[in-house]
Amino acid sequence: MFLAQEIIKKKRDNQPLSSEEIRFFTQGIADGSVSEGQIAAFAMAVYFNDMTMAERIALTEGTRDSGMVLDWSAYNFDGPILDKHSTGGVGDCVSLMLGPMIAACGAYVPMISGRGLGHTGGTLDKLESIPGYNIEPDNATFAKVVGEAGVAIIGQTGDLAPADKRLYATRDVTATVDSIALITASILGKKLAAGLDALVMDVKVGSGAFMPTYELSEQLAESISQVANGAGVPTTALLTNMDQVLASSAGNALEIVEAVQYLTGEYRNPRLHQVTLVQAAELLVLGKLATDIDEAQAKLMQALDSGEAAKRFGLMVAGLGGPADFIQRYQDYLPQAAVIKPVLAEQSGVVQQMNGTAIGMAVVGLGGGRRVATDVIDHSVGFNQMVAIGDTVAADMPLALLHAKDQASWQQAAAALRSAVVIGDDTPAAKPQVYRRIRPSI
Ligand code: URA
Repeated sequence: MFLAQEIIKKKRDNQPLSSEEIRFFTQGIADGSVSEGQIAAFAMAVYFNDMTMAERIALTEGTRDSGMVLDWSAYNFDGPILDKHSTGGVGDCVSLMLGPMIAACGAYVPMISGRGLGHTGGTLDKLESIPGYNIEPDNATFAKVVGEAGVAIIGQTGDLAPADKRLYATRDVTATVDSIALITASILGKKLAAGLDALVMDVKVGSGAFMPTYELSEQLAESISQVANGAGVPTTALLTNMDQVLASSAGNALEIVEAVQYLTGEYRNPRLHQVTLVQAAELLVLGKLATDIDEAQAKLMQALDSGEAAKRFGLMVAGLGGPADFIQRYQDYLPQAAVIKPVLAEQSGVVQQMNGTAIGMAVVGLGGGRRVATDVIDHSVGFNQMVAIGDTVAADMPLALLHAKDQASWQQAAAALRSAVVIGDDTPAAKPQVYRRIRPSI
């Protein structure tokens, strides 16, 4: 039997905690026997004194086990349970395509996703643009859709990782969110509660990323890789480029359009294609559905070209309450903004840089994201047909098509976009989309 205050004291004095002490604490967070003040003190002690990898693994496992851990063994699926997670970006709709693509290659993907956070978009908010799509199905429906479509993207239920819910809420108001140890356990505790065989983690780097520098993104990627693998789930962490909007659009319904067009082959942004294929291929290899990356990429292209991946997306949407003909008639179902007009460049030149965070915040300003948790989202707003870094633009050429609910919010977002896109004379050096892959060492 431990005492919460003794555990906090040990961490305060920079002594390592045992797995048993950490498990006791996470259980206490979940069952309410540890007070909010104790959670805050613990988080601040971890913020200053950090945690060893062994402690982070224990915190992750304690978070995972604080509620229900999904067990898929009873369903006798004939493929591995795979998932991917991103630290969040702008125009990052990879999950919407990757899930159906790897399902079409034989994986089962019970993806528990989140809502938008700050300037980053949320997969659940995007999916809620689809009329009828239920992000909170009962367990039987969730399992049925995973079995039949191979993929179901839904929200976190109250039963999964409840310790994280309480710990995160306290961190959010005590300036302790930005601790790599706590971020690692928060992300992985929730993900590993989904009962996965393997995971790919996309850690973003750049102007639209959650972590402010390459070094911090790299530390987070290393931490996630070591902790997930240490907790028994083979995981590859990728460091990918978030210097600009990843897709050609940023906004909820607009990203759904882009995802459907990607799956059907109507339009594929090359950056988005590369980042999606790289992550999906890593997953197929980790899940033993391909022997190497080349074979995995060939299978993924076949899943796209045959229409199977698009079909899986359609099955998921229909299975979770959306229209049965969504893939064929998505434009008829998605909400349209009242004002849709191009934002014109004010000077000619080459696009040098884009401030991804500012563009994400412009989408929030349009009503496409939340400033406070209770805000209601306008799914129709955002940008599409965005220019990219390295594009040449002439004055009066469009930087993007801007979708807004009225003229005033259009003007505001147009001004934000113009200052977020830096135009100059130089040709910017091309940067890779994938900076580093951190694979399991086994
Ligand atoms: N996302 C999470 O789920 N948890 C964190 O701590 C940070 C980002």
